[in-house]
Amino acid sequence: MGSIVLVFASVIYYQQVVERLQQGDRQLYWKASLMAANIDYARHDGKEHLDLSNVPILGSYAPPVDSKLVYARWYSATGKLQQFYGTQPLDRIRSTAAFETIDDRAQWLRQLTLPVEYNSRTIGYLQIAIPLTDDRDALREFLMVLAIVVPLTLGAVSLVGWLLGGLAMQPIRHTYAHLQRFTSDASHELRAPLAAILSNAQVGLMSPIEAGQPKHIRLEKIAHTAKSMNRLVTDLLFLARQTGRLDSDSIRSIHLNNLLKETIATPSIQSVSQHLTLDLELPEENIFINGNPDLLTQAIANLLTNACKYTLPGGQIYLRLVSQYHRILIQVEDTGIGISATDLPRIFERFYRVDAERSRDRGGTGLGLAIVHQIITAHGGYLTVSSQIGRGSLFQIEFPAV
Ligand code: ADP
Repeated sequence: MGSIVLVFASVIYYQQVVERLQQGDRQLYWKASLMAANIDYARHDGKEHLDLSNVPILGSYAPPVDSKLVYARWYSATGKLQQFYGTQPLDRIRSTAAFETIDDRAQWLRQLTLPVEYNSRTIGYLQIAIPLTDDRDALREFLMVLAIVVPLTLGAVSLVGWLLGGLAMQPIRHTYAHLQRFTSDASHELRAPLAAILSNAQVGLMSPIEAGQPKHIRLEKIAHTAKSMNRLVTDLLFLARQTGRLDSDSIRSIHLNNLLKETIATPSIQSVSQHLTLDLELPEENIFINGNPDLLTQAIANLLTNACKYTLPGGQIYLRLVSQYHRILIQVEDTGIGISATDLPRIFERFYRVDAERSRDRGGTGLGLAIVHQIITAHGGYLTVSSQIGRGSLFQIEFPAV
């Protein structure tokens, strides 16, 4: 919109300049014609008789056409100066171009050189000039008006655009909030019956039915499904509730070295990493950031769980904390199955799973990385990944140093 207004203003200004010049040129031509009409010229016996005495301004008796002319000059057909009014010109005509704009140091002039003809033969050149001061002042004024009007228009357009944009966004915001609330409420409501199904199945499993019998197998399936549904509902609830920036009440200074040590020691990480080697690499200095410790623990735990889930037994997992001069890095690296280049850009999307069947078998919901991404973004950090099929993956969290 701004560029349209600017282009529009430039076109108007250009048109004004052209219009003013054309108007000035018409006036100049009219004056020159009037002067030329008063030239007396006759030819007798091969001799020329030229009389300029009746020509306004140039002639001694004639009244001036108007006082606006800066100079008037008469040159012979060969270009030699014969008579003039105003500043002393050169002896010979400099240019016979019809209209010219001349920068006369003191002021800008518009000059017209009119060839005067008699019986289709040029008998001389009449040259007159008027100052462009009035036009220049008028154009300057016009430019000033544009310089005020254009920014004002831009400001008004931006303000109206911002207000209208806000108004247009209102129903979208409303719908989004509604959807968030619905997901949150639905997840919350689903948790109670799921918990009931799970506890009933577990109680059923405790009754004296022999393992391997059809009833036992069914109850085990119910318990397994209820557990993964519970995980899914918990993840959905988290995503619906944890949006945007962190709640300021939950922010505190976190000792990252300790947080990483505690996270790696949690029973859930220890149980998934049974057949793997887990390495923790910490720097010697203590590193602190401001954030929500529970959320950060969950983000790192999700990355570690994934690394363990997608690494074959005997593989290696590294959890590193690196402090560089303007940033803090937390890296989770594995020697697992890796992720293909086509899947990499999509793995942070909700419910995106590279191999849905395999992920489900490993207790995955497809929301783990979306949650990590949401938590890290809420902390003002960045989550990146690099991976190679068959060689492993490196997930990196980057925070600006405090
Ligand atoms: P899921 O619950 O399925 O693990 P995530 O959101 O945590 O869902 O991960 C999305 C997908 O990214 C997974 O299905 C998996 O294919 C892939 N993925 C995540 N972490 C790794 C990893 N460390 N190695 C290989 N693949 C991974």
